[in-house]
Amino acid sequence: MATYIVLLGLPGAGKGTQAALLQEALGLPHVTSGGLFREIAEQDGPLADRVRAILASGDLVPDDITIQIVEARISRDDAANGVILDGFPRTVLQAQALDKLLAERGEAVDIVPFLNLSEQEALARLGGRWVCSKDPSHMYHTRFNPPKTPSVCDIDGAPLFQREDDTPEAHRHRLEVYRENTQPLIDYYRDKGILVEIDAERSIEAIKADLLAATRPYYERG
Ligand code: ADP
Ligand code: AMP
Repeated sequence: MATYIVLLGLPGAGKGTQAALLQEALGLPHVTSGGLFREIAEQDGPLADRVRAILASGDLVPDDITIQIVEARISRDDAANGVILDGFPRTVLQAQALDKLLAERGEAVDIVPFLNLSEQEALARLGGRWVCSKDPSHMYHTRFNPPKTPSVCDIDGAPLFQREDDTPEAHRHRLEVYRENTQPLIDYYRDKGILVEIDAERSIEAIKADLLAATRPYYERG
């Protein structure tokens, strides 16, 4: 039996940070829809142009494209034992598509840790986010988690950069998009009895400990 973990929370809640730690601890791949789109945006062609513009604005990529891309990713061999989903689903339609896809395989989403924090804290985190140019799972924050040398990754020495959608304008828009499209997923998963709320206004280590405690039973079951 495979394990499907969906990390939910505002942009900036720490989903990517925690997914990377969970990947290491549980050995399940971290699947980030935002990361998949950033890879597409670096390519050439009409899809790349369209995705690049959507990402910069903070809008959502249309559901049909998103579902197709995530479905292809979680159908790869390395996802046979399950995945940690970060940033997907972001709409009820995406959540329904995921349920359908997993049901066809005799599987289901097992647990949805909801990283809960205030919009104010989310904005503070997004505003100071720096990402490694070689491995985007290496994440820093100017105040909360600074690299030893400014603008250089502690792990591999590669330069750090700020994402194009990490601007105050895009942040405001992304919070609105979250409220309208993604917030309903809290009830969607709560009604299924698989939502676990985690106070995300704490240290990375404290959140990680709660996440491990919440997810391990599902992983060890497999
Ligand atoms: P998300 O994937 O939910 O958008 P990230 O994992 O990218 O969020 O985190 C956003 C920023 O906040 C990053 O700069 C990260 O280093 C920082 N961060 C993550 N978790 C915490 C935490 N618990 N406390 C303080 N800063 C954090
Ligand atoms: P993230 O890396 O999760 O912050 O996502 C960055 C951007 O990618 C978002 O602002 C959206 O434009 C796009 N994106 C990521 N995941 C999705 C999704 N599930 N549905 C639609 N758009 C998405």
